[in-house]
Amino acid sequence: MAFELPSLPYAFNALEPNIDAKTMEIHHGKHHQGYVNKLNAAVEGTDAANMNDIDEIMANISKLSTGIRNNGGGHFNHSLFWSVMSPNGGGTPSGALSEAIDAAFGSFDEFKSQFSNAAGTRFGSGWAWLIKNGSGKLEVCSTPNQDNPLMDIAEVKGTPILGIDVWEHAYYLNYQNKRPDYVSNFFNVINWDEVAKRFSV
Ligand code: MN
Repeated sequence: MAFELPSLPYAFNALEPNIDAKTMEIHHGKHHQGYVNKLNAAVEGTDAANMNDIDEIMANISKLSTGIRNNGGGHFNHSLFWSVMSPNGGGTPSGALSEAIDAAFGSFDEFKSQFSNAAGTRFGSGWAWLIKNGSGKLEVCSTPNQDNPLMDIAEVKGTPILGIDVWEHAYYLNYQNKRPDYVSNFFNVINWDEVAKRFSV
């Protein structure tokens, strides 16, 4: 099993002005490609090479190497990240996802506040997530480094349906130290159709 960099479903400049083209080009072509290359090298000759997919590797990460944890997490997280953004994104979700957000958080605005707070307060590098937990309920959480809620070592476990990368490489060229502005503008590009699809699985 060899992992591959998924192609971006839009042009590097498609998310401007919310995320600039140069950041997208480096983030996808250098950072994500780097995780893929290092993951393939780390998996070779280990138990992970016999696993079916990246999800199975995440679920068994406590038994695998730090290299697989960091780069496998990096590959999973970024693959999700590209897909939950769109040049036609933004706005608010509808249907079953909207109802589930209201049920879990009270309102969309309260969800947005909790998600933004999780993204803003994650110290150093990491991710904030909207997850569907084992009971099918939505929760907001965050993870350090390239960890994610699919990992068996995660403090809060579940299936991520939306995630934001808060590593500085995700926003520093355009936003410098202003992470809250990046998080706020991320909401302009969220692909709610994709999030709803992931919620419905
Ligand atoms: Mn990143």
